[in-house]
Amino acid sequence: MSSLPIRLDQASEGSMASPLSGPPLSPAHSESSHLLTEWEDEWYQVLRTEIVRLAPELTKISHEIFDNPEIGGEEVLACRLLSEFLERHEFHIEPAPANLPTAFLATFETEDYDEHSRVIGFFTEYDALPEIGHACGHNLIAVGSVASAIATKHAMVHFGLRGSIQVFGSPDEENLGGKIEFIDAGLLKYPDVCLMAHPGNQDIALMRTLALQSVSVHYHGKAAHAAVMPWEGMNALDAIVQTYQAIAMYRQEMPPGAMVHGIITDGGRACNVIPNHASASYILRSDTKATLGRLKSRVTDIFEGAVRATGCQLRHSWDPMYMEMNLNRNLAGQYQYYMEKLYQVQFPTALEQESRATASTDMGNVSFVKPSIHTMYRVGVGTTCSLHTEGFRNACKSNVAHERTWKAGVVMAMVGLKVLADDDFFDQVHKEFRTTNRQP
Ligand SMILES: [Zn+2]
Ligand SMILES: [Zn+2]
Repeated sequence: MSSLPIRLDQASEGSMASPLSGPPLSPAHSESSHLLTEWEDEWYQVLRTEIVRLAPELTKISHEIFDNPEIGGEEVLACRLLSEFLERHEFHIEPAPANLPTAFLATFETEDYDEHSRVIGFFTEYDALPEIGHACGHNLIAVGSVASAIATKHAMVHFGLRGSIQVFGSPDEENLGGKIEFIDAGLLKYPDVCLMAHPGNQDIALMRTLALQSVSVHYHGKAAHAAVMPWEGMNALDAIVQTYQAIAMYRQEMPPGAMVHGIITDGGRACNVIPNHASASYILRSDTKATLGRLKSRVTDIFEGAVRATGCQLRHSWDPMYMEMNLNRNLAGQYQYYMEKLYQVQFPTALEQESRATASTDMGNVSFVKPSIHTMYRVGVGTTCSLHTEGFRNACKSNVAHERTWKAGVVMAMVGLKVLADDDFFDQVHKEFRTTNRQP
């Protein structure tokens, strides 16, 4: 596969020319427009050069992941490609952490690293959706975070910045949430911040997400001939229908921000047999973990109500909860600042950014353990082109999507270097985190 042209220093984001395009940087522009400090200018040059160098090979890896989509828990190829690439760039690889066969944990430490050194965490995702493939663009997250981590490593060595980098290869974001397993296994002990950027249909730094929990519900009744002796039966489908209807009626009383969506996964096999088993799957979402808890309680009551009505037995199981994103405005603001200054990316106002919350992610769980960002960058689609659609999937293989991924990679690395080098910024990030991570 031929490599793609990389144009990180061209002004493809807006009509203005990049302040860092053209000849090597001139300090004058920083002074005249109060853009970046001299240090930040130097970081940018080193990071950009390194990511341009990495981009052809990482683009091939992105295409290979895109062309061979693997659903959550089955991302063998993606996991291998990314961990081998990181290993070739001096990261130590721990395979299958947290007993997740398609996860990896890659670590780099500078020679002078010690227990007081700061640690930058990058998260990757690489799972696809069933049938539609990489319609969430995780092929881009995979290579974007890896590019950013390696560029950060390169800059740390270049500038003599002490510290460590950890790259969390986290599987199965779309379903069971590999990051939750990482947390439960104690693997988030070391990073001082966790960084990730997700492709999308607009640029958002303060990305709110909803708390989410999935549940599968099964009713067990008693089969009978539907015409000969129906009175001997106990119809499990009736229990599912009652549940479905009761949840639909409950929607009018749900608090703002709450959503429940579901499908019937088994409604019986034959019309002339009273079904002895029926099942459904639901996803519950709400603004916060606390309000999601209230939603769960009511939905559980509905499940049990159908037992009283039909006599069937109930079995239900909840998947791990995805928590809402605990925003860190210092980290997100720094990401936005660099995106604006380096690439003239335009963001909605902070109020507009925070007023939107539709999707959910297991980065939400990470954000309550360590100060985190989960930003979104536009990959050359209009705002009406939603994630998880064919149109969005096709965009995620484009040159434009990859160029913007490298820019997000540069900017994440800039944020990482600031965390390493700027004590005031580090303190502000953690001071904010201490006030926001109190779980209800
Ligand atoms: Zn998705
Ligand atoms: Zn996604």
